[in-house]
Amino acid sequence: MALREIVVDGDPILRKISRPVEKFDSKLATLLDDMAETMYLDNRGIGIAAVQIGILRRIFVVDVGDEHGKLEFINPEIYEREGAQLYLEGCLSCPGKNGYVERPERIRVRAQDRNGEWFDLEAEGLLAICICHEYDHLDGTLFIDKVVELTEEQIAELEAEEEEE
Ligand SMILES: [Zn+2]
Repeated sequence: MALREIVVDGDPILRKISRPVEKFDSKLATLLDDMAETMYLDNRGIGIAAVQIGILRRIFVVDVGDEHGKLEFINPEIYEREGAQLYLEGCLSCPGKNGYVERPERIRVRAQDRNGEWFDLEAEGLLAICICHEYDHLDGTLFIDKVVELTEEQIAELEAEEEEE
């Protein structure tokens, strides 16, 4: 495994559309391992897309610290979205920035694993947020494009809700 360098906002590659993965080989496995290692370094991130290390392929890895552990998504398709939730997001490619983004409360996604096998997953809460955030990277969208401006009262309310949970 090896650490890869994170591409940061301003680099035009982050705005490009990633291409589907066709070969499920040892090169892909190494890429997935490297992505995870890069994400876990210093507990920096809960998700990383291949484009963030300069690879324009439809791949991302997430680990939000729940019972699912590390999840790998290749050629994913989010085919159901339900509800809405606001969360203060950040991104490895946008250091020092964060902002509230509205995402679905619950999603269904299908994707391939590192062996090319299709799987189906229902996700909610933070996992749904994280998957949607990474999914956006595959089409050149960053969370900073979607930040909603909130009043101080709305932010205080959201923070109070989060403390209750
Ligand atoms: Zn990101």
